[in-house]
Parts: sequence; C-alpha cells; structure tokens
Amino acid sequence: MKLTIIGSGYVGLTTGACFAEVGHHVVCVDNDPRKVETLLAGQIPIYEPGLESLVKKNVAAKRLRFTTSTEEGVDHGEVLFIAVPTPPQADGSVDLSFIEKVAREISQFLDSYRVIVDKSTVPVKTGERVAQTIRRYAKPGVEFDVVSNPEFLREGSAVADLMKPDRIVIGGNTDRAIALMQKVYEPFAAPVLVTDINSAELIKHAANSFLALKISYANALSEICEASGADVIKVAEGIGADKRIGREFLNAGLGYGGSCFPKDIAAFIAIADQMGTPFTLLKEVQRINQRQIDRFIDGIREALWVLKDKKLAVWGLAFKPNTDDVRSSVAISVVEKLVSEGADVTVYDPKAMDKAKELAFASKVKFATSPLEAAAGAEALIIATEWPEFASVDLSELRTTMRAPMIFDGRNLIDPVAAADFGFQYRGIGRGVVE
Ligand code: NAD
Repeated sequence: MKLTIIGSGYVGLTTGACFAEVGHHVVCVDNDPRKVETLLAGQIPIYEPGLESLVKKNVAAKRLRFTTSTEEGVDHGEVLFIAVPTPPQADGSVDLSFIEKVAREISQFLDSYRVIVDKSTVPVKTGERVAQTIRRYAKPGVEFDVVSNPEFLREGSAVADLMKPDRIVIGGNTDRAIALMQKVYEPFAAPVLVTDINSAELIKHAANSFLALKISYANALSEICEASGADVIKVAEGIGADKRIGREFLNAGLGYGGSCFPKDIAAFIAIADQMGTPFTLLKEVQRINQRQIDRFIDGIREALWVLKDKKLAVWGLAFKPNTDDVRSSVAISVVEKLVSEGADVTVYDPKAMDKAKELAFASKVKFATSPLEAAAGAEALIIATEWPEFASVDLSELRTTMRAPMIFDGRNLIDPVAAADFGFQYRGIGRGVVE
C-alpha cells in the first residue's frame, strides 16, 4: 500500500521504517528541514536499536523516502498517519495546535478519498475535531475518514514493538476506513481490536496511566520497605508472580519520566476534570512519582551532609536505557537538583550525551567519556538510568577510582551485597542501607 507519515520523530520515523519493511511504500514528511536533510543524507537523527539498518535497507529498496512537503505526502498516501507532537500545556492539558495545523495542511491538498489516522496520543474526541477541521477547510464534497490508531511502542525497543505488537487498536466509524487499516496491518499478524474512535483514543491514555500507576504502586511500596527493612525487589517478585498482577512495571526507582508518561497522565487528569469526572487516583500517582525524586535527593543530602562543592558522579541521562531521549528525564532532574545545591557534577551516558548537551544544565556539569572516568575522584556515585553497562562495571576498579565509597542507586541496578563486599556504602530504593 502507499502510506504517508506526517511527523518523522521517534514514532513517525520508526513506524514508517517498519511499514516499509513489511512491503508498503512509505513517504515520511517532516516540517523540520534539518531533520529531513539528515535523513536524506542517510543519517538517523535519533538512536533506536535496529532503526538505522532498517531505514537504510528500505531507502535502498525504494520503499521509504523523506520530504518536507505535506503536499507530496497527501498526494502519495492512501492512508495518512499523523505522528506530530502533542506536548503538555502549563495546566497539564494537551497542546493540540500541531494536530490542528496538520489537519489544515492536509485539507488544503485533499483531492480524493483518504484515511487520516491519528497516531499521536490525543485526548478523547480529538478525532471528531480533526474531521470537523478538515471538512471546514477542504474542497466541498471531497471524501475522507478519520481513524484513531494509537501507538504503544516503547522507546529503546520501538522497532521490535512495532514489528510484533501485543495488539493493534483501530478506532473508526466507517467500514471503508477500517478495511483499509486492516490491510495496512495485515502483514504484522498481530491481534487487531476494532473500536469506535473515542474508545481508541481513551485506550491510549488509560493504558499509559495504568502503567504509571503500577510504577507508583511499587514506589509507594519502596517507602514502606525502607521503613520496615523489607526488600522491595523481593516484594515485587512475590506479587508479580501472580499472573493477574504480572512482574513488569513493578520496579521501584526514581519514578517515571520521559516524553510520554508524565504528559499523558497529566493529560488524562485534565481530560477527566474537563468532563466533570475527576480521576483523583491519578493525582496520587503523580504525587508518589514526584515524592520518589524528593526522597532520593533527601537521602543523598542526609548521607553526604553538605552538597556544596561535593564532587559527584552521575551515571545516566536518558529517561531510560537504550535510548538517547532526554525529554522529561528524571535523571536530568536529579542532576539539576544536585547542581542547584552547588555540587560539582560529572555525568556520563552511553547514548544521550549529545542530546543532553543541548539542554540548559549542560554548561554547569562536566561530561565524561566512560562510567569510570565520571567516577574518578568522586565522593559519591549516583545511578540515575538503568543502562545494562553500568551493572557490569568492575566494582573493584570503581572503588579504587572514587575518593569516597558511596553509591546511591536510583534504579536498583547494583547488587547491594557485592557493593558492600567491595567496601561501598550502598543505598538503593526500598532496600535500606547496606555497608
Ligand atoms: P517527536 O517530537 O520525536 O516527533 C514529532 C515530529 O513531528 C518532529 O520531527 C517534528 O518536526 C514533526 N512535526 C511537527 N509539526 C509538523 C508538521 N506540521 N508537519 C510535519 N511534521 C511536523 O515526537 P514523538 O516522540 O514521535 O511523538 C509523537 C506523538 O506520538 C506524540 O503524540 C506522542 O505522545 C506519541 N507517542 C510517542 C511515543 C514515544 O515513545 N515517543 C510512544 C507512543 C506515542
């Protein structure tokens, strides 16, 4: 099929590459000329495992191309996927101006029937507004359908998630549009759930909110574990072994961050408030999440007494491992907090250093080229992102290179007993202090 993706970021580019991989002919549009130039030059503007080779292979096979022209995109695709940002506003509600703009742009070039698909995460009832907007601006009589097809990929495993999704949700109001969408996804051999548009839109916010709730549940447990001397990892294993609960997303740590969870939970709260059906449970999820960072910083302050001029190493800047994405990263919030209290911070991340260097805090920290270099002479080490390579650092070398043996493990990555054996004082989350 001929498909167009409008917005070629983490979601759009990866989706476009995966659609091309299964045989579709895909045009990816982006209005950032630098991004399109980079892609046309054969480079990938983001880090996502497996993406570079997939893009190169499908560009070479002439199934994937890039453009800044929405007109070219509308002309090419039978189905037009919108994958532009839906950032949060100050009150937590979603800024839908990118979506509205794309709807107007599409309407300008619409000549014959197209399915317009909202892949961006949007509040329930956005599909209705997109359809209204296109109808208002398009040539009279031109046919189109709007469909909601939320995306559930996880950064860091986006290619794998797209190629083998748990489910595909298609929310549409006409058989014609749903049939075309089923054809798009036929090669993926994944379960397809067909719903109305409003339900599909709600599914995405409800799913992310539930995952955030699970994380906050584990984090609330971690505080009780610390107070009682229990080990939150064992508790999570014990409850997660129950198939009705499941072990995933029960890892206590610094809380959720990234470009999706904080904004989607805030959006869902705002949506529920606007509808007069407040979702107060989610406000508690947010409160617990913030409290985790505060408690972590309090723990560092309490152990080190004074942060001013303390030489600290921070491992991890990305919001999670296997990505270079630093948007709303909790790791960066931790670094900013330490810097604001006068600490002398050296950071290291395997993939996210370039993106982090573009942020305001970058001028106030030093960037190291390896975990051990970051830790050289440090009076404490803070682990803020659970990159697997941090777990395999030689603890004996780490002990030798650091000035004082303190580890604050915000992701429960290091074995506390092994750390203590090498002479470290170790503080994880929900596991007490081990020395
Ligand atoms: P992103 O910022 O990485 O990419 C969005 C792209 O859209 C950018 O490249 C931007 O230049 C482009 N763009 C903006 N306006 C445009 C326009 N008028 N025409 C063409 N291109 C335009 O964002 P993302 O992370 O890919 O997220 C996109 C949407 O998908 C959001 O709604 C997000 O909530 C949702 N989502 C994201 C993830 C994720 O893990 N990143 C997962 C599921 C859903």
